Amino acid sequence: MAAAAKPKLAVWKFASCDGCQLSLLDLEDELLALAGAIDIAYFLEASRATVEGPYDLSLVEGSVTTAADAERIRAVRAQSRRLVTIGACATAGGIQALRNFAEVGDFVAAVYANPAYISTLETSTPIAEHVAVDFELHGCPVDRHQLLEVLSAFLAERRPSIPSYSVCVECKRRGNVCVTVAHGTPCLGPVTHAGCGAICPACDRGCYGCFGPMETPNDEALTARMRELGAETPDLIRAYRSFNANAPAFRAAGGRAART
Ligand code: SF4
Ligand code: SF4
Ligand code: SF4
Repeated sequence: MAAAAKPKLAVWKFASCDGCQLSLLDLEDELLALAGAIDIAYFLEASRATVEGPYDLSLVEGSVTTAADAERIRAVRAQSRRLVTIGACATAGGIQALRNFAEVGDFVAAVYANPAYISTLETSTPIAEHVAVDFELHGCPVDRHQLLEVLSAFLAERRPSIPSYSVCVECKRRGNVCVTVAHGTPCLGPVTHAGCGAICPACDRGCYGCFGPMETPNDEALTARMRELGAETPDLIRAYRSFNANAPAFRAAGGRAART
């Protein structure tokens, strides 16, 4: 009896730095087992050899910043049974979404010697604004263990077990000393999605929110506390407007901080 065909995985890149795809390659110990369970059919970061779709699962890194991107993601969706976005670029628009708060033409003129050759949209937007997405995995970059959980879950046809609480929960579990309580260091941990294992507080520095907003962030309380600790309005706006500036909760938090 012929063996059942393995599910086909495709990995796609849009506007991004490739860091989230590298998290997949970083799964060194698990990659062989993974390759035994799935057919890595399209993953240009790893191999030029590709297999045509349709694909059982597509992982999408990066945001939509050009008209060609907007067209390509629709084609990717059309040939993917399941589509999962990975990282701050794909789930929120990434650091490149800072253009959404300014005039993109000003950046283009400042950066490029020949701006006439640049064809770009006014905004950087997450994949979910363009096509249906089955699951969003947060982080900049994503955590490789969480990525493995997502892949395992989709192979088993179950929902990934990814917690939606804040970095503070991971921080307490790890036994870190709270940098805010101990030293008055500003920390976005209370409003940031868990997943990294509270790496920054473990290194005695505040979280800067690279995993994006947690499910129910109370930014107003955090903003008030950061003001008590000496943060000025521009500091607060910068805190919320980084890798996940365009995530709705952080966009609103930055806007609220700017108005108070
Ligand atoms: S989320 Fe961060 S690590 Fe991932 S592609 Fe975007 S910039 Fe790179
Ligand atoms: S250091 Fe930051 S993440 Fe850790 S408990 Fe304090 S506020 Fe929360
Ligand atoms: S502590 Fe915050 S900034 Fe540091 S890796 Fe985790 S989510 Fe990112």
